[in-house]
Amino acid sequence: MDLTLARLSEIPNLTVSRDAPLSAYTRFAIGGEADLYAETESVESFIQALAVARASGRDYMVMGGGTNLIVSDLGFRGIMLRFVAQRILAAGERVACDAGAVLQDLVDFAIDRGLAGLETLAGIPGSVGAAVYGNAGAYGYSISERVRQVRFFDGECVRMLDNAGCEFHYRESVFKRHKDWIIFSTELRLAPADAGALRKTADDIVKVRNEKFPVTMKCAGSIFKNFLLAELPAAVAAAVPEKVVREGKVPAAYFLEQVGAKGMSRGDIHVATYHANLIYNAGGGTAADLCALIAELKARVRRQFGVELEEEVQYVGF
Ligand SMILES: Cc1cc2nc3c(=O)[nH]c(=O)nc-3n(C[C@H](O)[C@H](O)[C@H](O)COP(=O)(O)OP(=O)(O)OC[C@H]3O[C@@H](n4cnc5c(N)ncnc54)[C@H](O)[C@@H]3O)c2cc1C
Repeated sequence: MDLTLARLSEIPNLTVSRDAPLSAYTRFAIGGEADLYAETESVESFIQALAVARASGRDYMVMGGGTNLIVSDLGFRGIMLRFVAQRILAAGERVACDAGAVLQDLVDFAIDRGLAGLETLAGIPGSVGAAVYGNAGAYGYSISERVRQVRFFDGECVRMLDNAGCEFHYRESVFKRHKDWIIFSTELRLAPADAGALRKTADDIVKVRNEKFPVTMKCAGSIFKNFLLAELPAAVAAAVPEKVVREGKVPAAYFLEQVGAKGMSRGDIHVATYHANLIYNAGGGTAADLCALIAELKARVRRQFGVELEEEVQYVGF
């Protein structure tokens, strides 16, 4: 028997499996198997599993809802870990939430209690932990604006970071630079507001989202990050029409459209005909085709504009 599997199996409250098909755990629905997969609601068990993973010398990583992952066709020769605790608690305007909670559940929880600050995140798929990790956001707002503190494991002990310590930036946080740090929970500070008005805002957003990203679409939302206007080379920034700039950002789709991205395809992987930064798997897509299409898009934009598109998605097993 696999020694690591045997050790993981001894940890209480940990569900372990081998040869886990990651295509079934990811929204893109592509990619091979993880050698081992383990999940738990318990912080203690998760830390024990991490210790086993580290001692095994094998590769390991943590995943959330799998909505922002591209998994290699060859799978992940390592241990995939998932923290699945989902508690959400409120005390006045403060809300504490486990990393494994579904972001939409947190949004709904806040709205139902007449707490404002998360309603524009309505419809963003995935877990709260990953939303903090990637500073998820939409409509000009990001989760970072509401995070008070984050409880995480730094490889040695469980610690807290306040908002400044998280070093949030557009789709960035300190956690992205420390791949071995695991977020267990976060505390947010919200503001009182009318629940009906918040619900209307959220519903309107979800309606628009569902048209752009049908719920059954096998995709990761936007493939590439948008650009901060201030960080583009001056000559490129000067050529961007004013009407394209939104909340200080230039959509990656602006550049992609001009290099003919819309409707491009490779195998069963397609760029949407209505949105140049949306790539989806029509059913039989492979990670190889997806990566080749991404590389082609990056090369075209680099050649024509001299700027480098950066993926918002995370790669697994490459
Ligand atoms: C249709 C669609 C629309 C989308 N729209 C948006 C949008 O408007 N705005 C936006 O910001 N994003 C958007 N996304 C992207 C995605 O929803 C977010 O990136 C989301 O936060 C990913 O959550 P997840 O739980 O699925 O993470 P996963 O895809 O499982 O993982 C993403 C990353 O988070 C890390 N991670 C997960 N959990 C933890 C943890 N507990 N501790 C440390 N690291 C962790 C993983 O290691 C991985 O690197 C969209 C995706 C889809 C499919």
